[in-house]
Amino acid sequence: MNRALRLVLVVLSLSLLTAPAHAAPWQWPLGDHRIDRAFDPPDSDYGPGHRGIDLPGRVGQTVRAVAAGRVTFAGTVAGIATITITHGTERSTYQPVRATVRVGDAVTAGQPIGRLLGGHPSCGGSTCLNLGRLRGDTYLDPAQLLATEGAYRLIDPDGPVPEPPEVASGDLPLDGPVTSAFGMRVHPVTGERRLHDGVDIGAACGTAVPTVAGGVVTHAGPRGPYGLQVEVRHGSGATSYSHLSSVTVGRGQHVAAGTTVGRVGSTGMSTGCHLHFMRLAGGRPVDPLG
Ligand SMILES: [Zn+2]
Repeated sequence: MNRALRLVLVVLSLSLLTAPAHAAPWQWPLGDHRIDRAFDPPDSDYGPGHRGIDLPGRVGQTVRAVAAGRVTFAGTVAGIATITITHGTERSTYQPVRATVRVGDAVTAGQPIGRLLGGHPSCGGSTCLNLGRLRGDTYLDPAQLLATEGAYRLIDPDGPVPEPPEVASGDLPLDGPVTSAFGMRVHPVTGERRLHDGVDIGAACGTAVPTVAGGVVTHAGPRGPYGLQVEVRHGSGATSYSHLSSVTVGRGQHVAAGTTVGRVGSTGMSTGCHLHFMRLAGGRPVDPLG
């Protein structure tokens, strides 16, 4: 090997070693692998354009870190709740998200970092996550890094309906405070000590209740102490929404994630308007936040 060729090889291998470490794909920060609005960066710093990508979601949905890194911002930017995570030479940004992590926290890929809020101006009337990717001051297309392997399933339009995705723990249908957790407690009405088989989420009477995932409605109507209840089966698991004031779906109906199934109420054994949300695995209630 001559000297010049050897030098070229050394330079090549050095450049490979020092290349920015963004070969690892990003994980999707929400459950679904969908993009509502693509990357369309502005020509100038202050020009019109779309600096990230919009992923459709639901208010209260868990937002996860796309890759391992460190939280370098958690606050508001121009009135929008924002999280920034630094991954080596690049950063990921998440809006509008109420942070459950703090600046300085180290996060792993897929770790929950906050909950999705509504009302991002970029999303029109619907709820979405604006995901950004930055290197220095330059906006890059996040979609280039989002893992595509296994992300899309081609569905035969004449084939059977595919199983809907499982519900991830931590996904709640509403953004309100959890006023009573899952577990043993003294029942506020009966005074008995027994299992509280879901979580209570505080919300005003009449608030629309969206499903946390797509599925099939297996119950829609009165159910004893649960009052008006909607139950949705997702693959092997299920979720239910109780004490509703009204039900807006019917048994057997296929619903997408985010479909309104009813409105918050206080029917059944309840002391006031709230949502009793249950997650079931193998027919048994499990902690929706566990
Ligand atoms: Zn409850």
